[in-house]
Amino acid sequence: MNLLIMGPAGSGKGTMSAQIVEAYGVVHISTGDMFREAIANETPVGLEAKSYMDNGKLVPDSVTDRMVKERISQDDCLNGYLLDGYPRNLSQAHAIEEMAAEINRPIDLVINLVVDYQELVKRITGRRICKTCGAIYHVDFHKPQIEGVCDIDGGALYQRVDDTEEKLAVRFEEYTKQTEPSIEYFREKGLVRDIDASQDAKKVMDDIRNILEAVK
Ligand code: AMP
Ligand code: ZN
Repeated sequence: MNLLIMGPAGSGKGTMSAQIVEAYGVVHISTGDMFREAIANETPVGLEAKSYMDNGKLVPDSVTDRMVKERISQDDCLNGYLLDGYPRNLSQAHAIEEMAAEINRPIDLVINLVVDYQELVKRITGRRICKTCGAIYHVDFHKPQIEGVCDIDGGALYQRVDDTEEKLAVRFEEYTKQTEPSIEYFREKGLVRDIDASQDAKKVMDDIRNILEAVK
């Protein structure tokens, strides 16, 4: 199963992706995570991406497309991939369609997580992430047992530099202007399934599971 998961920052793409990977054995590919790793390792891609990311802007397509193509071509994606955070504009939507066809791993379905802006602000500004394992917490809605410490591995929790209300506003505008047209592109092809992602996480995952069982 080859899947895209789409939705604005804070819609739960990361949380749902982790559960989809566990349930269906697909490989999770998050372009945001790949860029953050590249920045941490100070690779050429990381150096290029940093200023865009820090400002909530999209990294240029040339860099992003190449990175994704290399990743989905790897052997571990034979049983399926779950792309999270890509495509993010119409040009990337065309690119993924083309590269997926080229390697004979076409997109089966697009999961579209729908949440309104006020809810996103609440989620994003309280989001905290484990430095060690990437687990996602929230200072009000999903507190760790000990403040600032991951329940799973004791890793330190941090706040992403772009998880502020100001940066979220930019990211949301990028989403509305650039990413939504790519969702409409896939919708016209009959691939999009809208999910009400303002529900609690368990209910959202139940809805996703119902949809995926039908295509498996
Ligand atoms: P995310 O973790 O998905 O919220 O992504 C964080 C940041 O990484 C975004 O605000 C962009 O700067 C960059 N980024 C992630 N995915 C893409 C993409 N497909 N195209 C361009 N920039 C991206
Ligand atoms: Zn952890």
